[in-house]
Amino acid sequence: MIASLPAAFLIILPLLLILARLLKFLPENNNDAITRLTEDLDRILPQTQCRQCGYDGCEPYARAVAKGTVALNLCVPGGSATERGIARILGREPATSTNKEAHDADPQIAVIDAARCIGCVKCIRACPVDAILGAAKQVHAVLPGLCTGCGLCLPPCPVDCISLAASPRINRHFGWTKPGRLRSPRPSA
Ligand code: SF4
Ligand code: SF4
Ligand code: SF4
Repeated sequence: MIASLPAAFLIILPLLLILARLLKFLPENNNDAITRLTEDLDRILPQTQCRQCGYDGCEPYARAVAKGTVALNLCVPGGSATERGIARILGREPATSTNKEAHDADPQIAVIDAARCIGCVKCIRACPVDAILGAAKQVHAVLPGLCTGCGLCLPPCPVDCISLAASPRINRHFGWTKPGRLRSPRPSA
């Protein structure tokens, strides 16, 4: 009996090692799947980084959706089209309770009251899409074509001179324009 103990140990040990490998392997596979799904979801989000979904940006929201811990309809700038895209990627039906209130809200953009602006630059630092033009101690202005209406610039303004106003359109899908190719210098005459 005692002599058979080392033999039993030799049989059980490899099995324990295999089990340990499997237990380690499974979560890794799951993490890989979540990362891939996050990338796919992030690709169809508007990339305005406006945080209206309640997350710190598009990628964190995509990750939460990939983990299945959050509703599919929280991206306000993306609206119903993005919600449908997310559902398609997940192989699910779009939610019947679409975030209609936010999705159907009239588009808004930020407007700065030039008479009250003190040029403190705080709004520029808060804007995730560089939609505010200005310099220290100069009047600032919002570039309507870039503003997504996220409202992130409102709280930092010390004189409350930024408001959101109705706009016929907002920039729902932000994208940086790729810089053109540098022109080669003109040949000297
Ligand atoms: S664009 Fe959509 S997903 Fe991205 S931060 Fe804004 S609300 Fe969230
Ligand atoms: S200007 Fe204000 S509201 Fe417009 S995108 Fe920038 S932070 Fe958002
Ligand atoms: S935060 Fe307000 S006061 Fe400061 S630059 Fe922007 S608009 Fe002007």
